[in-house]
Amino acid sequence: MELSSPRGEFQNEPFTDFSQSENRESMQRALADVQVQLGQSYDIVIAGQHLRTQATFASLSPGDPRRVVGVFPKGTPELADRAVRAAHQAFEAWKRTPPPQRSAYLFQAAAAMRRRRHEFSAFMVYEVGKTWPEADADTAEAIDFLEFYARESLRYAGPHPITAVAGEKNALVYLPLGVGIVIPPWNFPLAILVGMTSAAIVTGNTVVLKPSSDAPTIAAQFVRLMESLGLPAGVLNFLPGGGAEVGDTLVAHPLTRFVAFTGSKAVGLHINELAAKPQPGQRWIKRVVAEMGGKDAIIVDRDTDLDEAAAGVVASAYGFQGQKCSACSRAIVDAQVYDAFVERLKQRVDALRVGPPEDPQSQVGPVINEKAMRSIQEYIESGRQQARLLAGGEPAKQAHGFFLQPTVFVDVDPQARISQEEIFGPVLAVTRARDFDDALRIANDTEYGLTGAVYTRDASKLERARQEFFVGNLYLNRKCTGAMVGGHPFGGFNMSGTDSKAGGRDYLLLFLQGQSIAEKVRA
Ligand code: NAD
Repeated sequence: MELSSPRGEFQNEPFTDFSQSENRESMQRALADVQVQLGQSYDIVIAGQHLRTQATFASLSPGDPRRVVGVFPKGTPELADRAVRAAHQAFEAWKRTPPPQRSAYLFQAAAAMRRRRHEFSAFMVYEVGKTWPEADADTAEAIDFLEFYARESLRYAGPHPITAVAGEKNALVYLPLGVGIVIPPWNFPLAILVGMTSAAIVTGNTVVLKPSSDAPTIAAQFVRLMESLGLPAGVLNFLPGGGAEVGDTLVAHPLTRFVAFTGSKAVGLHINELAAKPQPGQRWIKRVVAEMGGKDAIIVDRDTDLDEAAAGVVASAYGFQGQKCSACSRAIVDAQVYDAFVERLKQRVDALRVGPPEDPQSQVGPVINEKAMRSIQEYIESGRQQARLLAGGEPAKQAHGFFLQPTVFVDVDPQARISQEEIFGPVLAVTRARDFDDALRIANDTEYGLTGAVYTRDASKLERARQEFFVGNLYLNRKCTGAMVGGHPFGGFNMSGTDSKAGGRDYLLLFLQGQSIAEKVRA
């Protein structure tokens, strides 16, 4: 393992410009290469050992569910126990591994991922139905997390300012916590998984990674990459399996020290509750980092460029089919410009191209699975009862897969179900506000508080939004999706989670504990 690491300031990985023919060709080649790899069987990895089980499950392609992306062993509670114990054992040596050496694994992983960038993106196109630019942005963000946390870890390992006490030599140092359970969602199957896992590992913890059953192949590709770099056995254990079956055993295990979770509110709250209950033999209060859902709003003020606002709303509402925690699912529009805005919105929504994600022309792909499709359709039914359908509302005609038309409801009551509950699909609720005060009140009136945006030319209204729009990630005159590592530390308020600010300078602290060391200096 090379100890010296490429330093310099962190910089975001640029996105691929697919208007360039050589980039389009490389991505086409990657899609073809990955297609040949679809349907492979993958292993559980515990303490470096590869294991299979009798029972398996398949990950299917949402754009064409006849296509098996990967076949996985189903973890069991016994294997969950073994995985936590393996991680616990590996912790003793890993916590003593010098921070520059731990960071070097991340720098090398970033370099390897950069070389295989389109391959990782292609897996996401097939496994979760991301369009090319969405998949590319996901891979870029994963690389960013590796680069950012590798540097951050070195910063935390360095000296920290502390007030001098006469007659003492004092220091504040940061120590790892122990065994962490990492539970990512399927919607940023590389970026969020890599972010949470690498943050835990680089700070000296060991991990049991339980991937989402909708995106285990991408997770397995990352685990293979880390294995290929020679990460010591037991530092990263990989246990696919049902959330409830293995999840509860992992979270409740007495040797589990912390849980890093990103997913729905319901599962996040369940994990938080389970982790709070001490188990026999447990010696600590478990730490839970839980990033959860959103019901994100964009306010469109009377004094704004309506085309720009409509473009921002459409990009935020329908990017990755609305399956982002940051997706705009509510547009709150000043009554004075409501009709004009709705007209522009409809034009843009009608122009969106729905199609297979492997086709570079597609702007809106499939939703993740049949269950999600049904749940979104139920919300659409509820919308039909409570509001006026402006666009979409039906499955989109494609030969196979879970495709829905981009859907807009207008004149939606702020208390309607589709205004309050996270739908996680391509459905937007548009609500009329009397004025800016009313818009802010409506925007803040859900249990969530993740992202939000305001489009206005009025500086005093921007200032009011700064003061009163209660969300973890506030965007002014721009869309509410697309947070960048380093630039937009990410995490939400209220039922959106613990506001961990992933990709920011506070994040690694969640995986560390500070120790104050005071030494009396002899005269
Ligand atoms: P989910 O809650 O259904 O699943 C998330 C993970 O939890 C999966 O790996 C799943 O297998 C696991 N799980 C399920 N039951 C479990 C249990 N009992 N114990 C332990 N683990 C269990 O969420 P999802 O459908 O994968 O992702 C979509 C959700 O994630 C949306 O609500 C979205 O808003 C949210 N999300 C939030 C952020 C954020 O940063 N706030 C980012 C991305 C996604």
